[in-house]
Amino acid sequence: MALLTKAPRGTQDSLPEDTAKLRFIEATALETAALYGFRLIRTPTFEHTELFDRSVGDTTDVVQKEMYTFIDKGGRSITLRPEGTAGIVRCVMEHGLLGDALPLKTCYISNCFRYEKPQAGRWREFSQFGVEMFGPAAPDADAEVIALAREIITTLGVTDITLKLNSIGCPTCRAEYHKALKEYFAHNAENLCETCRGRMDKNPMRILDCKSPVCSEIAAGAPKVLDFICDDCKAHFEGVKTRLTGAGIPFEIVPTLVRGLDYYTNTVFEFVSNAIGAQGTVCGGGRYNGLVEALGGSPTPALGFGMGIGRLMMVMKAANSEYPQEKGCDIYLAPLGENARQRAFELVKLLRAEGFAAETDLMGRSLKAQMKYADKLGAAYTLVMGDSELEQGIGKLKNMKTGTQTDVPLSDSLISTLYNLTLAEAVEDLSNTGLEGFNLNMLK
Ligand code: ATP
Ligand code: MG
Repeated sequence: MALLTKAPRGTQDSLPEDTAKLRFIEATALETAALYGFRLIRTPTFEHTELFDRSVGDTTDVVQKEMYTFIDKGGRSITLRPEGTAGIVRCVMEHGLLGDALPLKTCYISNCFRYEKPQAGRWREFSQFGVEMFGPAAPDADAEVIALAREIITTLGVTDITLKLNSIGCPTCRAEYHKALKEYFAHNAENLCETCRGRMDKNPMRILDCKSPVCSEIAAGAPKVLDFICDDCKAHFEGVKTRLTGAGIPFEIVPTLVRGLDYYTNTVFEFVSNAIGAQGTVCGGGRYNGLVEALGGSPTPALGFGMGIGRLMMVMKAANSEYPQEKGCDIYLAPLGENARQRAFELVKLLRAEGFAAETDLMGRSLKAQMKYADKLGAAYTLVMGDSELEQGIGKLKNMKTGTQTDVPLSDSLISTLYNLTLAEAVEDLSNTGLEGFNLNMLK
C-alpha cells in the first residue's frame, strides 16, 4: 500500500502555498533575465543518453552514478535530463539558432533528475532555472552572466551569499595541470575512494570535486589550477575580475573549485549561502567553450549557470524573504433558495469575466455555514441573496473587513457597483497609507 500513498524517495509534491512561491521565484528569475535579453526555451524532459555522456562527461558523478537511464520500447537508450545545458545546446544546434546574430541568450526552467542520496536540499527530481549564452568570448559576458545570477538571488531577498570564483583554463593549459595532478594523486592513491582511483588517469580534476571527506582532504593539498593556466586564460580571468569589481560584485577566489560537469573551461563559479548547511550552493555555472564543437557544431564560445529553485526557496526561507500576497476570493455569493442559486450561478460567471475572483456555494450549505466558509476563504465581500432579495432585485453586500453592509443591485450593474466600491476602497487605503504601498493592481 505504501507504494500507492507515498511519493517515490527524493521527490516532492508542491502544495498550493508552495506553488504560489515557486511561481513567484520563477517569474522573478524570468523577468530579471529578460532585462538582460535572455529568452525562454523549453526542451524535452528526456534526451538520447549519448548527449549527456558526451557533454556532461562519462567520468563525472552525474553520468557514472546519478542518471535515470532506460531502454525505451523502440530499443533506444534514453535518459531523463540530469541538468539543463546539454538539452539547450542540442536544441540551439538542431534549430540553427547559432547562425543568427550573436550573442544568443536563452534561459530555461526545467525539472532535472539525478539518482542521489536524498537529504535536505538534495532531491532526485528538482527544478532548475538556468541561462545559456552563445557567441561571446570576452570576459564581459562572464561578468554579465554572473551579475544576472546575483541579481536574481538578491532580488529574491537573499543577500547573505558568497560568490566563489575560479578559472580552470583551456584544454591546452589543463593538460599540464592534469599531469601535475596525476603525479600528486599517485602518491596518495591507496587512500582515495574507489571512484576517484578509477578517475585518476582519465580525469584527475574530478577528484577535486569528490564529496568523500578523505578525498577532499587529499584534494586540499593538490596543485592549484591557477598556477598552471596560460597567459590568455590568465588575461581572461583578470578581465572577469575587473568587470565584477567595477560592478561592485564581491567574490572569493577558490582555487579548488572545479564544478561537477566536464564541459567547463575558464571561468567557473558558484553562489553559496551559509544559511542552509551542507547543500548551500544555490547556483553553479561557468564557461564551456568546447561543448558546441564537441557535439559536432562549429567552435562557439558559450557560458551559463544553473540555479536550484528548491535550494533557493530554502535559502529565501532562512533569509525571511517576502512573497507577494496571493490574490484571494474577491466576492462570495451566498444564495438561499433555488432561484437565488440560479441567479448566483449567472452572476459569478459575469463577475469572473470582469476579473473578480468570485465563488458561490457548491456544497448546499446553510446561510450560516456559507458565511463561515466565506470567512475561511478570506473573501473580501459576501453577497447574501435569498429568494426575497431576488424579488426586490437587491442583495446585501457585506465588506468582511469593516462589516459595513450596502444594498446592491442583483442585476448586471452589480459589476459596476462592485468596481466603484473596490476603487473607492483602494483610494481610501492609499490616503491612509500615503503613497507607500501604492500598487496599480489595486485599481484593477
Ligand atoms: P552539488 O555540488 O550540490 O551536488 P552540483 O555541482 O551537482 O551541486 P550543478 O550540476 O551545478 O550542481 O547544478 C546547479 C544547481 O542545481 C546546484 O547549484 C543546486 O542548486 C541545484 N542542484 C543540483 N543537484 C541537486 C539536487 N539533487 N537536488 C536539488 N538541487 C540540486
Ligand atoms: Mg551534484
